[in-house]
Amino acid sequence: MKVLTFVLVLVGLAAALPSGPVNPDITGAQVFRVNPTSAAHLHYLYGLFMQDLYDFWTEPRAVGKNVDIMAQRWMVPVLKATLSKVGIEHTVIIRDLAEMTERSKIANDRALEVAKRTNPNPKHNMDWTAYHRLDDIYGYMDYLATTYSDIAQVESYGKTFEGRDMKMLKLSKGGSGKPIVFIDGGIHAREWISTATVSYMMSQMVENSGSHAFLDKVDFYFLPTINPDGYEFSHTNNRYWRKTRSATGSPFGCKGVDPNRNWDFHWDEVGTSNEPCSDIYSGSKAFSEVEMRNVRDQLNKYADKIKVYLTFHAFSQLWMYPWGYTSALPADWKDLDNLAFDAVEALTSVYGTLYEIGSSTNTIYAAAGGSDDWGKGVAGIKYTYTVELRDTGNYGFLLPPSQITPTGKETLEGVKVVGEFVAKTYG
Ligand SMILES: [Zn+2]
Repeated sequence: MKVLTFVLVLVGLAAALPSGPVNPDITGAQVFRVNPTSAAHLHYLYGLFMQDLYDFWTEPRAVGKNVDIMAQRWMVPVLKATLSKVGIEHTVIIRDLAEMTERSKIANDRALEVAKRTNPNPKHNMDWTAYHRLDDIYGYMDYLATTYSDIAQVESYGKTFEGRDMKMLKLSKGGSGKPIVFIDGGIHAREWISTATVSYMMSQMVENSGSHAFLDKVDFYFLPTINPDGYEFSHTNNRYWRKTRSATGSPFGCKGVDPNRNWDFHWDEVGTSNEPCSDIYSGSKAFSEVEMRNVRDQLNKYADKIKVYLTFHAFSQLWMYPWGYTSALPADWKDLDNLAFDAVEALTSVYGTLYEIGSSTNTIYAAAGGSDDWGKGVAGIKYTYTVELRDTGNYGFLLPPSQITPTGKETLEGVKVVGEFVAKTYG
């Protein structure tokens, strides 16, 4: 009996962890929107965030800024009681996450089906009316390199933990030694709009390169997903998977590291967890993840030419610059702020989508080990930004496929401003 109880406790524990070993049962899971109205509330929520009991879809940022928290079915009453006890207002924004996830999957599958049926170009399967799997994205990159071989080149810059290729497209209209804008997406697996937006911008710049004058003076490197194992897993097993898929040695079988807590600059100092089952697990050491080492090597290789490094996430509509590990600002923060302002102004002019601008710590609680901090602090790239794309939580990670192209269009306008700035300043 004792053994059985022990086993049941273990099973219960493993199931209760936010990124457990198996596809978590999200039946009855709910997403709460809470509004911290005082510094005490905010502090309390941050404490809750660090406890790993819930999956924070957005992190506690500031008084008056909503925080979206997902609770598994058996934790729903606990969270409700906890929030009520401390007097934090909350509403349930998703009543049944399983049902909503299923509906979202059906919508995307249908969109993929239509895309396949109406595909105008039999040479690739990519489009921006649906979220595509890795094969379609890579197939499209190869297609671009073949079709536009004078300006586009695809490289595999390493393998993932599970042995997948990591691919990058280099867009260069010739001439050597040009400044580079380096763009990656999908570091967090479930943030599908990030991968889709990076591939959208890549598509527009390569296929319409003639209409972007700055490309005569600036090269663009695109890495649509720098966490391919996680991305595939979020399609096949767990829609809410965030981390890599590496083995951690966890006794519960928990896998993966938060790749945006894994970079070697003030690594593991703040806003991270040492628990392998946590969604913000920083890893056994800095750069424990092969995928992040691979991206790091590319950033290092071209560090003297990379003038801007943009890393895309979702969601919250934020355009952020370092530092993330401290609330102190870099000495040249005004320069970063100015360029962010111009980019966001162009983005907003398309559909009126509003973004907030600021340093990572002033817009989100401190979190060390992010790629943007490393890019600035170690690689010495002056302009590094973390951009949180659409939306502000209406759909969150389940942003409908119909919003991919609009998100791509508006973000491209912001990135064009960045391209023009680099051409003018360094070209
Ligand atoms: Zn993210």
